[in-house]
Amino acid sequence: LAAVIRCKAAVAWESGKPLSIEDVEVAPPKVHEVRIKVVAAGVCHTDWEYLYEAEKGMKFRPFPLVLGHEGAGIVESVGPEVTTFSPGDKVIPLFLPQCGECERCESAKTNHCRKNWANTQVGVLADGTSRISYQGQQVYQFLGVSAFSQYTVVPHTSLAKIRSDAPLDKVFLLGCGVSTGYGAAVNTAKVEKNSTCAVFGLGAVGLAAVMGCQVAGAKRIIGVDINPDKFAKAAVFGATECVNPKDHTMPIQEVLVKMTDGGVDYAVECVGSPSIMTAAFESTKDSCGSCVIAGWTETGVMNVKVEKILMGRTLRGTYFGGWKSVEDVPKLVNDYMKQKLKLDEFITHSLPLDQINVAFDLLRTGKSIRTVISL
Ligand code: NAD
Ligand code: ZN
Ligand code: ZN
Repeated sequence: LAAVIRCKAAVAWESGKPLSIEDVEVAPPKVHEVRIKVVAAGVCHTDWEYLYEAEKGMKFRPFPLVLGHEGAGIVESVGPEVTTFSPGDKVIPLFLPQCGECERCESAKTNHCRKNWANTQVGVLADGTSRISYQGQQVYQFLGVSAFSQYTVVPHTSLAKIRSDAPLDKVFLLGCGVSTGYGAAVNTAKVEKNSTCAVFGLGAVGLAAVMGCQVAGAKRIIGVDINPDKFAKAAVFGATECVNPKDHTMPIQEVLVKMTDGGVDYAVECVGSPSIMTAAFESTKDSCGSCVIAGWTETGVMNVKVEKILMGRTLRGTYFGGWKSVEDVPKLVNDYMKQKLKLDEFITHSLPLDQINVAFDLLRTGKSIRTVISL
């Protein structure tokens, strides 16, 4: 029978303070839960945002907590009534579940399954508690995942089983950033062949959106970022040109409308800033342009002038790129293995868990796309 595991985790004790590496206890999985050994994890902008700007852009979630929601690992043990996973399976934990039974899982219109939603959003599993503790004190699980722990426990409906030959130190990227950006272009925007696209923000999410536009056959893909160091990488993923809003006195939407003689067909916002969302929206064709919001804010308010939507533009958000998480993540892994999807090019740095704060700094200062944290 599974026992408590003692291991290392990066604990966020309070907002605004760096993480500290602690010895934590990880309880055995309860009914419908799976305990996994995390092998690799990435630092996503959302982790950084929650730690350093929780009061600004995100709703409050309780501390102490273990961040990390983009990871990959191996099943260590399974709880009662788990039939689809066994110890040794390679897996990717998911902050978006797919129970396969609810109304939303049965609908082709949404991927937003609500199984365990309310509890994982506040950092606990189905029974209202977390499986991670520090000297008897509960440590919450960010988005129900906690990939910055050597072991974690997740609901079996929040876990994708992937092929056994998949390299975990690459496919962890499909746990959040790459799936989100890629899906924003191919699933949510449904970018068409020969179209003109603009992607705002060239971090992992934005670069994955650029890749999605390229795979969909777009003929012009314009990358927009205030950090010109991102432009070379954007070209690798298929950007045909890049623009720095700081090089222009005109608002960026006007620059894009001029460059494209009337606006882009598709714009994807991957920054998380309401003013850039407005710019992305207004940079599309007035008659039929479409704008997808992938960037995250839970408190921001976006300005949409009625006149700008009246002629036929559309505006849509995307969550986890529209993918049905449990069934689609393994397919994305296959696409990577068949070289239909790039992953290696997103990884710019590699660090051990005890240097995770360096990875946070590299992301914030725009020096990294993704750092792979080895646990
Ligand atoms: P990142 O920090 O690596 O990238 C953000 C990029 O935006 C950077 O290159 C930065 O230079 C650029 N930027 C900043 N200000 C800008 C401006 N004014 N104009 C143009 N570019 C600007 O972040 P990431 O990990 O790629 O995440 C991007 C966003 O996606 C974040 O808001 C994150 O929270 C969100 N996200 C959403 C989902 C979802 O399901 N919708 C999932 C994952 C991440
Ligand atoms: Zn993320
Ligand atoms: Zn469901």
